[in-house]
Amino acid sequence: MHTTVWILGDQLSPRWAAWLRERGLGPHNARVLMIESAQRLRARPWHRHKLILVLSAMRHFAEQLRAEGWTVDYRVALNFAQGVRAHVQTYSPQRVLVMQPSTWQGAQFVVQRLPALLGSAELIVLPNRMFLARPEDLGRARSPLLETFYRQMRRRTGFLMENGQPVGGQWNYDALNRQPPRKAWREGDTRDIPPLPTFPPDAITRAVIAEVARIETAWGALEGFALPVTRADALRFFEDFIAHRLPLFGPYEDAMVSGQPFLFHAVISPLINLGLLERDELCAAAERAWREGRAPLQSVEGFIRQLIGWREFIYAIYWREMPRLRTMNVLGAQHPLPRFYWDAQTEMACLRESVQSVWTRGYTHHIQRLMVLSNFAMLAGVSPQALNEWFLSAYVDAYDWVVTPNVIGMGTFADGGIVGTKPYAASANYINKMSTYCMRCRYRPDKRLGDDACPFNALYWDFIARHADRLAANPRTAMPVRALRQMPEGDVRALRAQAERWVRELIQP
Ligand SMILES: Cc1cc2nc3c(=O)[nH]c(=O)nc-3n(C[C@H](O)[C@H](O)[C@H](O)COP(=O)(O)OP(=O)(O)OC[C@H]3O[C@@H](n4cnc5c(N)ncnc54)[C@H](O)[C@@H]3O)c2cc1C
Ligand code: SF4
Repeated sequence: MHTTVWILGDQLSPRWAAWLRERGLGPHNARVLMIESAQRLRARPWHRHKLILVLSAMRHFAEQLRAEGWTVDYRVALNFAQGVRAHVQTYSPQRVLVMQPSTWQGAQFVVQRLPALLGSAELIVLPNRMFLARPEDLGRARSPLLETFYRQMRRRTGFLMENGQPVGGQWNYDALNRQPPRKAWREGDTRDIPPLPTFPPDAITRAVIAEVARIETAWGALEGFALPVTRADALRFFEDFIAHRLPLFGPYEDAMVSGQPFLFHAVISPLINLGLLERDELCAAAERAWREGRAPLQSVEGFIRQLIGWREFIYAIYWREMPRLRTMNVLGAQHPLPRFYWDAQTEMACLRESVQSVWTRGYTHHIQRLMVLSNFAMLAGVSPQALNEWFLSAYVDAYDWVVTPNVIGMGTFADGGIVGTKPYAASANYINKMSTYCMRCRYRPDKRLGDDACPFNALYWDFIARHADRLAANPRTAMPVRALRQMPEGDVRALRAQAERWVRELIQP
């Protein structure tokens, strides 16, 4: 056996056998290498559920390969370099295949360090086949439009297309997908929100949990891990979404309900980002549900847009803009990340519940990420790099390729408008309309000034004032600048003084 295939921890795809067969490789003439790096596990305060998920999924994946006849050299090493070196010393492969990593850091390792670790073995880097889009698909514009990119992906994949046209005559049903929470949910009756299926840990996962309990640098709850860790369970988990949550996914995509972190979302990012689920099979299943009358088009189109639109768009932007993307800070935001992002000790109900959900399971859905956690940080002038570090550590589905463009671009506008055409800045009005948080908050969403005024309000107007010139030049953000300029000077002064107070009290206490 002269060939080694090094499969990375976020490349647990069911298609490896087919990819290798194309190259004449199989269990008879190639062996698989997988490495757990102790240093990587301690590189940042990773969420404990993330560590459990990745390690357990890797170990189950190795077991599955063995059951299919592959020889797997599964190494627990100090770091990747030591793991590769030890493998090469033991097996002396003539060639080592590795698939292009999804993240910049991984790709740098493959290009800069790996060749020297292989001795005389030839390195073959396979193209990354887990994504559909490439940076070229973004076109030439500095700020490519998601909608243009998405239509291109619809044409390329053929999802929801008939005779070259979008089914239903429209590309995008987003306008129908902004329903606020139902009255019953506001009143605390959430019986019609389906529970998420759970997968109790098996022996492999239980052993991993015991190991993760000893990783002193980790953050987040150890208890309560219930995600699938095998492909078979991941498929069952997804089928439950199609059957029970997809029909209302679209209408309530943006709603936030206290005590209901998942609502009608798919919660598949932890699995698809590892390779356990595949974009095309997910989109095909959703489209089938629509064709068979089990889900409305507005939900199915919205779901497919997230996967072949947003997810691929973000990946293409990452590879076009790295490494400068990580350090961008066009709004010059310098405040440290408030402590409550780690300990949830805040009286702001929306932020407290969001952080508690992240602590408990490493998950909130998109709108808490964007309109609560990022929005607050952006309005308050928190360093986008500090926020990026937090998102990378705290979420169970976090990888640099997806976090960095979402935080630096969509979440904080620190890229000056590459990912989105405007900052997602909002006052308490938005959170009050789209969530049930404000009902049980010590602050009042309708007040701008005073001890009980919602901090989002003064911080919002202060943000508009700080960046008025930039925002006035953008037709999509000129309106609040005009409103600010029409306010009496004394009101603006009071709002800005109140914002200063919030920064003092909430961010730098
Ligand atoms: C500040 C910020 C940080 C984020 N961090 C992450 C992260 O660490 N990991 C991650 O996978 N996604 C991240 N996202 C994108 C998105 O919020 C999550 O993919 C989504 O909430 C995952 O939950 P879900 O599977 O229930 O998604 P659903 O709402 O059910 O959507 C289905 C799928 O669409 C994809 N998707 C939707 N929006 C995006 C997007 N903007 N970027 C990439 N994929 C998208 C995801 O794969 C998701 O699983 C972030 C977004 C923001 C604004
Ligand atoms: S009042 Fe303000 S701080 Fe409280 S939940 Fe609403 S938006 Fe959040």
